[in-house]
Amino acid sequence: MAEIANALTVDVEDYFQVSALAPHILRSEWERMPCRVERNVERILELLDESGSQATFFTLGWIAERYPALVRRIVAGGHELASHGYAHLRATDQTPAEFLADIVRAKALLEEIAGVGVRGYRAPSFSIGKQNSWAFDCIADAGYEYSSSVYPIRHDHYGMPDAPRFAYPVRQGLLEVPVSTASVLGANLPAGGGGYFRLLPYPVSRLLVRRVNRSEGRPAVFYLHPWELDPGQPRIRGTTLRTRFRHYVNLHRTEARLRRLLRDFTWRRMDRVFLSADAGGRAAPRVDRLAA
Ligand SMILES: [Zn+2]
Repeated sequence: MAEIANALTVDVEDYFQVSALAPHILRSEWERMPCRVERNVERILELLDESGSQATFFTLGWIAERYPALVRRIVAGGHELASHGYAHLRATDQTPAEFLADIVRAKALLEEIAGVGVRGYRAPSFSIGKQNSWAFDCIADAGYEYSSSVYPIRHDHYGMPDAPRFAYPVRQGLLEVPVSTASVLGANLPAGGGGYFRLLPYPVSRLLVRRVNRSEGRPAVFYLHPWELDPGQPRIRGTTLRTRFRHYVNLHRTEARLRRLLRDFTWRRMDRVFLSADAGGRAAPRVDRLAA
């Protein structure tokens, strides 16, 4: 059996922009925080290079503006540049007009910096669900071709457990590509990384990705954050024990785990795994209509 190409995705944001820490850091403080994102993304790029893997980088506009050279290095490395919005606001915390403005701004900014079309978008904290499915209209209107904004699991911060588990057309011209779950005894287990990749022993992640590939014959969609490979990041004070546990546990183990994950499976860019090749690399024309 030919090996399935899975999609590896990286949400390019810094440690102080994580939603769970938002109550403890004002947005106005972001400018003063020591940034770690550049070195952490560089490390991931090295690991991808060493293993001959490719990935999709859902990048915040806020980061791209401050680190344009990093954005260009992602593209030069053969990886896909995609959008994580501009300001890392949850879709659930915005009006449709605010949400649209944020994702249009991020797409235009990334395309201008990198000189390539941006086709994919991921909502911060997988914050699209039944209550705000209007967000998919906005994503299509902004000219994106796919979204990866749903994690079909139960979780206190996000998740839409009854959403489709595999890529499906959610609007005309817009594909939703959910982060992977493995169906075990009727429950959806998280097979797509995030905090679970750090919390659980590596063989569990490997088993679940394998299950998606072998039992279901589907490519897996896996995600991680640059700060998850960075045990030296400054600790944010005043957080709850649970938040501290989730954010800081096993940071020192993630890099070695990622090496194993890259060795054990084939990893490619999201667009190459899920979109047809013919439309690749062009900016979607609908942006012009919006800007007019
Ligand atoms: Zn994020």
